[in-house]
Amino acid sequence: MLIALLSFIVTYNQVNKKVLQPIYKMNEIIIAYQNGDDSVKKFESNDDEIGLMIQAFFMMKEKLDEDYAQLEKLALTDPLTEILNRRAFFEISEKILKLTLRNKKTFSILLLDIDFFKKVNDVYGHLVGDDILKYLVSNVSREIRDSDVFARYGGEEFIVMLPDTDEEGARNLAEKMRESIELNPFACEKLSIEVTVSIGVAELRGEKLLRDVIHRADEALYSAKENGRNRVEIG
Ligand code: GH3
Ligand code: MG
Ligand code: MG
Repeated sequence: MLIALLSFIVTYNQVNKKVLQPIYKMNEIIIAYQNGDDSVKKFESNDDEIGLMIQAFFMMKEKLDEDYAQLEKLALTDPLTEILNRRAFFEISEKILKLTLRNKKTFSILLLDIDFFKKVNDVYGHLVGDDILKYLVSNVSREIRDSDVFARYGGEEFIVMLPDTDEEGARNLAEKMRESIELNPFACEKLSIEVTVSIGVAELRGEKLLRDVIHRADEALYSAKENGRNRVEIG
C-alpha cells in the first residue's frame, strides 16, 4: 500500500514536471503572445516535445499573419493596375475627410475618365486596352504626391483625393496630367496610340459627406465630356 502510494507520488511529480508544468507554461506563452507581447518569442524552449510545439505555434502564427496581410492587401488593391480599389479609396478618404473637417482645412477630388475608350478596345483589343489602363496609372502616379489617394474608381475611371489642395492647385495638377497623357501616346510594339482623358475637379465646399464632393466632380467630368473631351472642368 505504502509502496503504491509512494510510486504514485513519484509518478505524479514526474508527470507534473515533465508534462503539466510545460503545458501550463505553453498556455501562458500563447496567451501573452495573442495579447501582443512579442517578447515571449525570445523564450528559451527545450528541445522536448512541448518546446517543439511552442516553436511550431510561433511559426504557424507568423505564417497566418503573413497570409492575412496578403489577403488584406488583395482586398484593397485593383488586380490589373495594382493601385487602390474603390473600397480602399473610401476607407482612406473618409479618414482624411474627418481630419480635414476637424482641422478646418480643404481637399480636392479629381475624377478622370479615358475618352472613347470603348473604341480603343474595339480597334486594338481588350489586352491593349488593359495595357493602356496601366500606362495611364503610371502617368498619373508620376504627377501626384505620396500623400494623395489614387484609386481605380470603375472600369476606365480613376479618382484622386488631394489633401490640403484647393481648387486652383487641383485644376493645375489636373491640367498637367491631361497634357502629359495627351503628349505621350501609348507605345507598344509598332503601335502608337493617342490617348486623352477628361477630368472633373471639385474642392470641398462645406459638405459633410465625401459622396457630395465626388458628385460635383462627376458633374464636372460630365461637362468636360459634353464640351468636347480632353479637357478639365471645375464642379
Ligand atoms: P467616353 O469618352 O464618353 O468616356 O467614352 P468611352 O468609350 O470611354 O465610355 P464608355 O463608358 O462607353 O466605355 C468604357 C469602356 O471601358 C467600355 C469597357 O469595355 C471599357 N473597360 C472598362 N474596364 C475595362 C478594363 O478593365 N479593361 C479594358 N480593356 N477595358 C475596360
Ligand atoms: Mg471613357
Ligand atoms: Mg467611363
